[in-house]
Formats: sequence, C-alpha cells, structure tokens
Amino acid sequence: MWGCRARALVCVWEVRLAGFLGRRLLSSNAASGKSNAGQCWNCGSAGGVESGDGFFCEHCRALQPPDPTRDYFSLMNCHRSFRVDVMKLQHRYQQLQRLVHPDFFSQKSQTEKHFSEKHSTLVNDAYKTLQAPLSRGLYLVS
Ligand SMILES: [Zn+2]
Repeated sequence: MWGCRARALVCVWEVRLAGFLGRRLLSSNAASGKSNAGQCWNCGSAGGVESGDGFFCEHCRALQPPDPTRDYFSLMNCHRSFRVDVMKLQHRYQQLQRLVHPDFFSQKSQTEKHFSEKHSTLVNDAYKTLQAPLSRGLYLVS
C-alpha cells in the first residue's frame, strides 16, 4: 500500500518535472525567437544576413554570429545522411575556413574577431565530426 503511494508520488513528480522542463524549453525557444534573427548586429539591416551563406551582412560585410540552430550537415552543405562525400566535405571545410578564420579578422573589431573564433571552432568541430564514420553516426542519432 505504501509502495503504491510512493509510486503515485513519483509519478506526480515526473509529470511536474516534464511540465517544468517543457516550459523551460518553450520559453528559451521563445526568447531566442525574439532576438534579432536575420538582422545585422553592425548596421541593423534586416534580411541582408539571409543571403549568401549567412556568414556576412550583404550591406556592411560584417561577420555575423554563428546560428545556434544550424546543424553540422547544413553547415557543411551535406545531406543529413550517413553517406557523406568526404572530398566534398574537405572542400567545404577549406572554403569555410577561408571565410571565417580568425587570421583574416586581426584588423577587424573585437566583435568580429570573437565571432570568427566561434565560427572557426564550429567549422572544425563539424568537419571532424562528419569526417569520421563513427562520430558521424553518433551525431546522426543524437
Ligand atoms: Zn550589416
């Protein structure tokens, strides 16, 4: 009888916890949705960031912060599948590093230097993850 009651209590807690976590997820999504997505941090122009690769503002050419919702496959221009063209992946990696490598931002503002470091780390992680079959597989199922 006590066991039954304890289980019921645990159940109530699980429901509450799930509700709490669900709300937290929803509210953090809402908060990020409120941020100036697609708007340049430097010149404030909206929509300019959408064009090209989403890395630079088309109006002032300022480097934009990495998009946290973008997955490695999209970043590396690959289909979300286990079969990845490693040559294409490598080519894309070199292309991206030529765009965002911190060396190219040594004369730029602190903000752009900071973004370029973030982009560069992200590109490195994406490349390493998708290059090796094991980590690629694990990333796919995560
Ligand atoms: Zn701009």
